[in-house]
Amino acid sequence: MLELKGICVSFDGKEVLRDCNLTLPEGGRVALMGPSGCGKSTLLRVALGLQKPDAGTVSGRPGRTAAVFQEPRLLPWRTAEENVNLVLSDNASTLPNARKWLGRVELEEAAGLYPAELSGGMQQRVSLARALAFRPELLVLDEPFKAMDDALCQRMLCMVGEQLAGVSLLMATHSEEEARRLGCRILRYRDGAFFETGD
Ligand code: ADP
Ligand code: MG
Repeated sequence: MLELKGICVSFDGKEVLRDCNLTLPEGGRVALMGPSGCGKSTLLRVALGLQKPDAGTVSGRPGRTAAVFQEPRLLPWRTAEENVNLVLSDNASTLPNARKWLGRVELEEAAGLYPAELSGGMQQRVSLARALAFRPELLVLDEPFKAMDDALCQRMLCMVGEQLAGVSLLMATHSEEEARRLGCRILRYRDGAFFETGD
């Protein structure tokens, strides 16, 4: 179980997160919502161990954790399928499997293209395919469907939902519908932290 306790983060003297607590049970799903710049990505980075908080503790993060950040982080010198294949065997034997994952994000035709040849939204989907292919215990998604049109977003929500059995999910989103479709408990930003609000 992932547990964040008393998380405080300031940047250049400006307080972003203050005494922020979050518990994510095994298989649990939580969506962080709040205005741009409120600290959603910061809290995700703290949860991932990529940002050291000024105070507070993070415990129980599973070893198999995958993340999709707001900016796709693909290796520029690897093709789309090779980027996905990185988390499989990173050799030719699993390339068909990597292509299958690209198919799930509707990018089979882009398998041989390099990140620079893909739009930002396509790179985001390659990142999503890579994260899912890793079969993580904890999946962290930072506004993953933002660059998609409505119809594609609906299909990706279905696909991700199908892949989530037994996976803990921590996501940031501006869409309550997205959060609900993925079965997330919604935590909203207020005064430096994220809280559950009654419906
Ligand atoms: P959100 O994801 O909710 O839009 P962020 O967590 O990205 O918000 O940012 C929260 C605040 O912290 C913003 O004011 C942002 O400018 C600031 N911030 C985030 N990362 C850094 C950083 N590495 N250095 C300085 N300020 C940062
Ligand atoms: Mg953000």
